[in-house]
Amino acid sequence: MTDNLIERDKVDALKRYINTSRRMVITCHISPDGDAMGSSLALCRILRNAGKEVKVITPDTPPKYLMFLPGAEHIVVYSRFENFANKLLAETDLIFCLDYNDPKRVDLVSPGLLASPAPKVMIDHHLYPDTFPDLVISHPEVSSTSALIYKVISAVGMQRFIDFEAATAIYTGMMTDTGNFSYNSNDPSLYRIIARLLEKGIDKDWIYKKVYFNNSINRLRLNGYAMSQKLEHFAEHKAALITLTRKELNEYHYQKGDTEDLVNRPLTCPDIVYSIFLREETDYIKVSTRSKGSFPVNKMCSEYFNGGGHLNAAGGEFYGTLDEAVARLHEAMPEFDHYLPE
Ligand code: 5GP
Ligand code: MN
Repeated sequence: MTDNLIERDKVDALKRYINTSRRMVITCHISPDGDAMGSSLALCRILRNAGKEVKVITPDTPPKYLMFLPGAEHIVVYSRFENFANKLLAETDLIFCLDYNDPKRVDLVSPGLLASPAPKVMIDHHLYPDTFPDLVISHPEVSSTSALIYKVISAVGMQRFIDFEAATAIYTGMMTDTGNFSYNSNDPSLYRIIARLLEKGIDKDWIYKKVYFNNSINRLRLNGYAMSQKLEHFAEHKAALITLTRKELNEYHYQKGDTEDLVNRPLTCPDIVYSIFLREETDYIKVSTRSKGSFPVNKMCSEYFNGGGHLNAAGGEFYGTLDEAVARLHEAMPEFDHYLPE
């Protein structure tokens, strides 16, 4: 149970930082997902309700399906407004680092972030937090940074600033990082939080539809094609692989996010323990992995694909051709056989 988990000294330190700061910047990881966006926009809203001047910076453009989140239209996208974003980072009183554990995850934002004289507060749930922030509130046992934001805000006594908009953003992150409460979702405190968010008026059914009913015909067809033509099964390794080339993506008019759920699908087979998706980008191969039980895809990604992540959901980047990435995977699979269940 993770009801009162934030250490007292960290709560006090965070209160001091908030009380002594007027301008604040919130950063989250590249290719922001529901949790990165949800936690950032919730914290932004809460701090603004408390009278602070707050800006959210994302490294790149957030996906369209998350633009319904309150405040999303005011996000400063670093890749589009680099100078403005760097000025914000340089002149702010406090920087929050949400839903990432390493400056590499904010990509081009990282030089301006690290150079800023402002104190930095990390609030995150990934393993192995980096030591660059002045205050690290890291709880990998919490299933989303958004749930952690709720707990942190409660701990510092700012719960009254959580309004309908902030509650909507928090719920979105909690929902997306648990696959609509289908994994990492047995902690009873999650449901106590949800009860509070419902009391703030959130419409969880509406949020579900906003996030998950966002298919396009092209996306449906691309996913159908990947599933019927591009799924490889390695029965001896209890693994599944899907690859998509640039050419194939272009044929289906690929838009960012169109392959989001693809890697999860093979895990619906009882005999598949882990799943890998390789997508050809212009200058590298994006690796996305998912697993069940104690099979550590984060270890596979960090050792073979310049990445990392969670035990059951990880990713990385491979610099080479798609065929070379597949060859790399063939090297990795036998090395990980001993993690397979009996
Ligand atoms: P996804 O497959 O959805 O892109 O990523 C799943 C998880 O893997 C993310 O939440 C993140 O924790 C991690 N991840 C994805 N890509 C990378 C990467 O390039 N480097 C690292 N260190 N982690 C990644
Ligand atoms: Mn997260």
